[in-house]
Amino acid sequence: MNVAASSDASHGDALCAALAAAKARYAERRPESRTEWHSAARVMPGGNTRTILYFDPFPVCMTGGSGCSLVDVDGIRYVDLLGEYTAGIYGHSNPVIQAAVIEALRNGLSLSAHNQAEIRLASVICARYPSIELVRFTNSGTEANLLALATAAAFTGRERVLVFEGAYHGSLLKFGEPRSPINVPHRFIIAPYNDIDAARAAIREHSGHLAGVLVEPMLGAGGCIPGDPAFLGALAEEARAAGALLIFDEIQTARLSTGGRQALLGITPDLTTLGKYHGGGLSFGAFGGSAELMSLYDPRKPGALSHAGTFNNNVLSMAAGHAGLVKVLTAETLDGLNGRGDSLRARLNELLAGIDARFKLTGLGSLMNFHFTGEPACASAALSLLFFDLLERGYYIAPRGFIALSLPVDDPTLDSFVDAVREVMLSRAALFCGR
Ligand code: PMP
Repeated sequence: MNVAASSDASHGDALCAALAAAKARYAERRPESRTEWHSAARVMPGGNTRTILYFDPFPVCMTGGSGCSLVDVDGIRYVDLLGEYTAGIYGHSNPVIQAAVIEALRNGLSLSAHNQAEIRLASVICARYPSIELVRFTNSGTEANLLALATAAAFTGRERVLVFEGAYHGSLLKFGEPRSPINVPHRFIIAPYNDIDAARAAIREHSGHLAGVLVEPMLGAGGCIPGDPAFLGALAEEARAAGALLIFDEIQTARLSTGGRQALLGITPDLTTLGKYHGGGLSFGAFGGSAELMSLYDPRKPGALSHAGTFNNNVLSMAAGHAGLVKVLTAETLDGLNGRGDSLRARLNELLAGIDARFKLTGLGSLMNFHFTGEPACASAALSLLFFDLLERGYYIAPRGFIALSLPVDDPTLDSFVDAVREVMLSRAALFCGR
């Protein structure tokens, strides 16, 4: 073994030992979370019904939240910097959302019919997103993407779909490593993200068979890697030339402006999918596009496609979503939130570079992700240790290093978070800093 390899191995061992100790400390402070997880494991596989929330040795069990603060069953408080993986943009107790939900409940929950709340929300969405003339609602972002792909296939009469390495479009549409055996059986072609030549070649090679190109304007679960504007522009151009539909999954990136990232880039996809905060924090999904395309679903037309879904127009999501968009998420509010995110990312990157830390952040606006810049084999342990160290100091981010700011996160909170990151890095200097 050469000297560099042996020092990598001992660094990896030290990291694993520190991680084991951090997990032991985490477990010791949280007996009630452990008990709840044991109860859960009797009725759900691994005690879990949403894979991303599980982590070793057992996941934290939250009892409630207020503003941007969370409390767990052991009474430990956290600053919530995860914001329900972007769906929780309003925080936990926004009075506008609460009032809308209560009013909807008072008016009757299960109306078995068209309702006014769905018209109001659809109107705001169509007014906001340049590509959406007509919209339909679903129950989740996964479902929205499934419908968008089905729409592309039905419209073009073709079956192949171009997607990108590292993309996440829902629980049945994952394109990271390892490959998911439970993806829907479309004929996917997978190209590297942000590689114009490879995408162009793939689109040209499959031209004539390609129904659509499905892309996140920024890889979200893939680590907050912004799509290069030239790459996204080339996709639009090539898809059009090939007669395939360009589908923007803006389920995370919609929050970058009132018109999503598409408005910022000046690119108008054929279809757009939305989710997350558009339901005010309740379950939600939507897909929309030009009137010509979406009219495939017009039930007045002979042979129209049928799109069912008991809860597609549920009044709680419709009412909360509308109130949030109209009364809270103005252009100024969104700009403020994204500005705080840009500034946090810049400050953290400056801090990390200044102390020679082996981490950096990527992202756009209020969305960002830590990356370990040391040996790739150690990345997962390093991010996990960072997660436990931040948790120990009362900050809740995703175990993979993802942060999504919500509106109640203010500047003093972010100042304290920057201090906490500095403290973690310096207290772990041997593992986290230096080349
Ligand atoms: N697309 C993207 C970009 C997402 O981030 C997500 C959720 N993380 C989805 C689709 C799936 O949305 P849902 O969890 O509502 O099914």
